[in-house]
Amino acid sequence: MAIKFFCDINVARLCKWIRFIGFDAVIRQELSKIQIQNLCIKDRRILLTRNKKLKSLKCSKVIINNEDYLKQLNELFPNFPINFDLIANRCIECNRLLTKIDYDTLQKILCSSPQLVENIPKEFHNDLSYCPRCGKFYWKGSHYQNMLKVIQNLQTHKDDIIQN
Ligand SMILES: [Zn+2]
Repeated sequence: MAIKFFCDINVARLCKWIRFIGFDAVIRQELSKIQIQNLCIKDRRILLTRNKKLKSLKCSKVIINNEDYLKQLNELFPNFPINFDLIANRCIECNRLLTKIDYDTLQKILCSSPQLVENIPKEFHNDLSYCPRCGKFYWKGSHYQNMLKVIQNLQTHKDDIIQN
């Protein structure tokens, strides 16, 4: 079964990275401690938090020690396996799985709402995805490449990242 997370609001940035890596990770700021515990148990989610007071909750959890997201990533991985096939298949803003935009759909967008893709370099137009929930577009430009490098370094040069 795929590993899923529940991120406390105090690890919100880490949550985006976890989604980028391809894990299902939710944030629900409105929930009480007990509601968090119950949701994690029901959904089989691992709670990630920096709040040591949540240690007593009876669900699976990882208490994160560091404030910096790179160090947080190093605390978590490689305790959890990273599947590089799943990288960038999920919206980092809302957790929904992304939909690939095929050629026909792209042509429709270019005819009816070209402003949606006007800021995306043309070389990436044949490899676009979008989030069906929040409408955000994704492509594998420099932002993606930089994030991917961080994840690759995580696997190979753990100690370098911790020192930097
Ligand atoms: Zn989204």
